[in-house]
Order: sequence, then structure tokens, then C-alpha cells
Amino acid sequence: MRVSELHVPAAQDDMSRPHWNAAIETMPLEQMREFQLHKLKQQVKYLYANSELYKAKFDTVGFEPGDLHTIEDLAKCPFTTKQELRAGQDVNPPFGLHQAAPMDRIVRMTSTAGTTGKPVFQGYTKSDIARRNESICRGLWGFGVRPGDRVINGFALSMFNAGVPFCTGIETLGAVDVPAGAERKAEGVLKIAREVKATVFVGTPSFAAYLAEKAPEVLGIEAKELGLRVICGGGESGFEQPSFQREMERVWGTRHVYDWASTSDAHPNVFAHCMHRNGKHHMTPDLALVQLIDPATGELKDFSEGAEGEYIFTHLDREACPLLRYRTGDILRVYTAPCACGRTGFRMDIIGRSDDMLIVRGLNLFPSAIQSLVGDFIPKATGKMQIVLRAPGPKVEPPLHVRVECNDGVSPDHALRDAIEKRIRADLSVTTAVELVPFGSFERTSTKTRLVIVDPTAKEPVS
Ligand SMILES: [Zn+2]
Repeated sequence: MRVSELHVPAAQDDMSRPHWNAAIETMPLEQMREFQLHKLKQQVKYLYANSELYKAKFDTVGFEPGDLHTIEDLAKCPFTTKQELRAGQDVNPPFGLHQAAPMDRIVRMTSTAGTTGKPVFQGYTKSDIARRNESICRGLWGFGVRPGDRVINGFALSMFNAGVPFCTGIETLGAVDVPAGAERKAEGVLKIAREVKATVFVGTPSFAAYLAEKAPEVLGIEAKELGLRVICGGGESGFEQPSFQREMERVWGTRHVYDWASTSDAHPNVFAHCMHRNGKHHMTPDLALVQLIDPATGELKDFSEGAEGEYIFTHLDREACPLLRYRTGDILRVYTAPCACGRTGFRMDIIGRSDDMLIVRGLNLFPSAIQSLVGDFIPKATGKMQIVLRAPGPKVEPPLHVRVECNDGVSPDHALRDAIEKRIRADLSVTTAVELVPFGSFERTSTKTRLVIVDPTAKEPVS
């Protein structure tokens, strides 16, 4: 098959074309399946020959590369978990036992934030970096980013997976990378954005919101007066929610607000909005195979319109730290109906994480579902919220204690509280005790905001 996973920018490139790499992004699904199988066979051979972890895992179940005839045959291999990666790092630091390229071919590393345990490191060969750059270009190009744009990289640059790798991705696209970095804090980033006449911001949704909030104080102007054309990013929930999108459109004065998703170990497996914003497309089906499983049984689930399940992925040509049937813990809802943009990759929303799912009177509840409803109360509320548990989940007794932040100048009142409680009960059949907290109660950071905290000493909200 003669298609290239990598689009090489050329002087005669049509800047108005909607896709960075149309051959891949609009490839008919049947053809993509064949392409995936072809690459998967090579990748499994590569793992068997080069990765200690995968050789051992295949041996455990008596699987050999020659046993793979269809994509479904991959289900004979065991899953890979984050715990395994961590344990492997202790034995074979820094990358772990799944490392498949020799150290002298690895030229970069990144790490997970380590919020849920020891950080996990990822290594990249030059070829891994080229594919990763390609994946970033596909997403950003779809958001309308073009050569000539000055792109503020507002992600944390220190070790973070979306930090320096985004810098090289932006360069590959041909735009101007402005590596401001979240470490510079809102004041520094806003000043740079003004000085360089930035046109694009990439970062977490919390940071985008915080920058807009601080702009009048730091620069003496509203954020929208900076004239940014595209506001996008990811790293946490936010940009995918219609209410948050509307708020960002209002404060930044642009309708180009887009979401991006991946998990730290997953690159270059990425999902991104197209201009239609009806779920995020799988942008890299040629680089990573994505499958859905039932999180409880591990059984594969069919991809059909509206199907839900935990997604697992298998890198199709990652060299340094490849993963096979890796359990992400992210629960997706997928959409397979065609999209007007012409991309053939399925679309999805992340509806929660298997490890932060709560069970309230037998009902599964994802904190992000509550967050999404709270977002509908912007501008009275800021959209920020936190579920407070007295003891670790997943089983929780109602009423569920939910802290919701009021917006600047709005004082907590019964009517707002009752309206939020009523809305959550109507939509999710869950009784809550909403505690309205004043503006500024939640820390503003450029990193992830936790949706659930466990605090045995928290007081019950007064009704
Ligand atoms: Zn689309």
C-alpha cells in the first residue's frame, strides 16, 4: 500500500485545504482496516523480537506473531496496564521492560504528571517524534492553524507530554511556535501574547479561562481585544462542553474553540475536534488501533453509533516505548455516522474514567456528567465544581455533596442552588446537596482540576 503516514510540507501546499493529510484522514474505512492489519503484523513481530515485556506476555498465552491473521486475533494477547509499566520501570529504568528500541536510538523523554502515583516515563526515537509531530499537525490544521500563525504554547513545558512535543509539532506545521509555557504563569503568558501578536492559544481549558479572567488586571484590556483566532487544547475536561465553549467564545471573541484528547502514554494516538465540533475524530487510525471493551469483563465491544466502553489502544509503529492493548481507563461514547468534514475516523466523547466512576444507589455516575450540567449555569456560576466524598468511592450514599463556584459578583442564593440540584436530579436521577462557594474558592492552575476529592472532615452543606 502506497500511502504516507507523514505529510511533508511543501511550498506548493494549498493552505485552504481542510485536511493536513487527506490520504489518511479521509481513507475509506475498509482500506484503513487493511492498512492497520498490515502494520499490526509488523508491529507484533517487532515487539516479539525487541520488547522483553511483550515477549514474556506473548509466551504466557502461547501467542506467536504468525498467529495474527486478523485484527480480532489481537484479543488473544493480554492487556497492558499502567501498573505493569510502573513495575517495569523499577526493573529497567527509566523506560521499563516494554522498551523496544536501544537507548542510543532514543532521543527524547516525557513523563506523566504522577498525580496518581509514580510518574511514568515515555521515550521517543526520531521516527516516533516524526509521527508524533504528524499527529499534532493533523489536529491543529483541522482547527484552522496555518503557517504564519503565532501559537502560544501554554502547556507546562517541563517534562509534560503536551509541552515540548507540541513545540516541535507546531514547527512541523510551519507556524511560529511561541513556547511561553504554563510555568510563566498567567501574567507572563498574557504579556507575551500581546507582544508577539499571538493568533492561537494551546493549553488546558482551565488556563485558557484563567488567562481571560486575568487579562483586564494584567493588560488593562479584555482578552478578546488580544485578537486570538483559535483557542484550543486539552489535558482535562472543558473544551468539549458546549457551555464552556460558549463562554470561551464570549471571553476570547472567537468561535474557533476546539478540544483535543489523548492520554500521556498514548501518543501519537490522538482525538481532535473538526470545525463541526460534534465529538472528536480519531485522527491517527494509521498510527494506533483503538478498540472498545466492557471495563468489567474485558470483552471487546462493537463499534456502532452511540456505543460506550473503555478504550484500549495498540501502537502500530511506535519504536521506543510501544504499547499493545493498553488499558486507558477512559470511557468513551463513539459516533460512527459520517461527518461533513469528510474525515473517516470515528468520533467520540470521553464520558468518564473507569476509576472515577461513582455508584449512587446502583446507578453509574461519572463526575464529568455533573460538571457538564453545572456548566449550563454559566454565567451565574463559573462552571467549576467539585464532588466531595467523605470516604473513597465508588459506592456513595446520596445526597452527593457538590461544591459549585459562583461567578464574580454573584452571591450564593437558594434559588440558584435549588435550580442546580433540580437539574441534576432531572437529568441524572441523582440527589445532590449543592454547596455554593464564592468566586475564587477553587485554585486557578494550569494543571488539572480534580473533580472528586475525599475529605472525611468536610461539613455537610446547610440546606
Ligand atoms: Zn468532522
